[in-house]
Amino acid sequence: MKIDKENIVTRFPPSPTGTLHIGGARTALFNWLFSRHHHGRFILRIEDTDTARSTKENTETIIESLRWLGLDWDEGPYFQSQRSHVYNAACEKLLSGGKAYYCHCSPKELEEKRKDAIKRGLKPKYDGTCRDKNLGKAPGAVVRLKSPLIGSTTFKDLVKGTISIENEELDDLILQRSDGTFTYNFAVVVDDSEMGVTYVIRGDDHINNTPRQILIYKALGEPIPHYAHLPMILGPDKTPLSKRHGATSVLAFREMGFLPHALLNSLARLGWAHGDQEKFSIQELIDLFSLDRVGKSAGIFNMEKLLDLNAKYIREETEETLTDLVIPFLHKLGCEELKREMVTGAVRTLKARSKTLLEMAQKSLFYFQKITYEPEADEKFLVPESSELLEELLSVLRAAEVFTRDELERILAAFIETHGIKLGVVAQPLRVALTGTAVSPGIFEVMEVMGRDMVLTRLTKAIAHIKAKGNR
Ligand code: GLU
Repeated sequence: MKIDKENIVTRFPPSPTGTLHIGGARTALFNWLFSRHHHGRFILRIEDTDTARSTKENTETIIESLRWLGLDWDEGPYFQSQRSHVYNAACEKLLSGGKAYYCHCSPKELEEKRKDAIKRGLKPKYDGTCRDKNLGKAPGAVVRLKSPLIGSTTFKDLVKGTISIENEELDDLILQRSDGTFTYNFAVVVDDSEMGVTYVIRGDDHINNTPRQILIYKALGEPIPHYAHLPMILGPDKTPLSKRHGATSVLAFREMGFLPHALLNSLARLGWAHGDQEKFSIQELIDLFSLDRVGKSAGIFNMEKLLDLNAKYIREETEETLTDLVIPFLHKLGCEELKREMVTGAVRTLKARSKTLLEMAQKSLFYFQKITYEPEADEKFLVPESSELLEELLSVLRAAEVFTRDELERILAAFIETHGIKLGVVAQPLRVALTGTAVSPGIFEVMEVMGRDMVLTRLTKAIAHIKAKGNR
């Protein structure tokens, strides 16, 4: 594929009728990667002409999602709602050049024509009643494109190959509605040509619009951009990705504790591949990305793989960064006052055991909140037989000179040797006493992070708890 390297301009034009989903984010990413790879420009344009369904909140969420993913833009955001003057001028140009015309047919008449066509077994398209009448502006009138009646419209899609459609299949499509607003197909072409977009990379749900848009470019006398229509995204069950497959909105992934980098990797692999490689740095993605490698077959979004990738990225992050990232999750879980040092300690003990930041925060709650004993662990380990051991351990720990992991390990080793017991015999009750559960990170690490005061307090409480149980 020959790329006009001098002039690469891509765009991402979301409609703020919803939040940013996996599909939209993949489109944004591919446009971003393509422009970054070729040192081009990447434009953000908010297509908010559907005033009934577009909201400011959705716009903000989309922008926040892009920022979180790190997909920065060089121009924009432009808002279509603020650009009617540009569409008006382009529409006037087409009207005065005889490339578009006013149509006075009422919706009722159009509906009758439609029904009639269907009855006669024809394709229901506008029959051209007003096409050559040279009508003027009037209440209720729309502006239509004077599409060619013969010939065909062909384009070479960079992913799908050559696509051709007979012009007689295409309608005299409406450019401006009777309320003065402009249609998507018209606004998008006017904007793309005015903004100098040279590559239109978007989901293949738009492929049917492309021949129509090409006709508008031709009518305007503007150069036609290159097109790349991306394959659709399916869930692991091979049905179109939807809520049924779990979260699809980008910010939901942030809330679930994914790192943007992990999500970007999964998005990159939706339709694009570089061998079997699953993990890419951002720079690698930029360096390697090419439209040649976008396949025709659908991309499968696999949550399990994303989780595994996220776990890998978490393991690679520094404790400092993870501390910053996990604190907001802890706040959300109700841990208000946090000692940063303790959070970093908790992160250290949990970074190899957590697939998401949320999981890490949840698993670390025992460090920051009052614990309750898990009933099963309580029943099994906080029993009269361990109470004496724990009491002895308490006094040994109280006397410990330093409270470091190595020293604690040494103390415990001496302790079990003196008692002629296995480590588990004391370590499990100790674990339950400190964390409330029978599964936790290494007990010496946990004790080091908690510090002497917390360890002694929790141990004392557990001993009292065992005694109280015995008296019941
Ligand atoms: N606003 C359209 C959408 O969100 C953009 C389509 C296009 O890329 O032309 O689907």
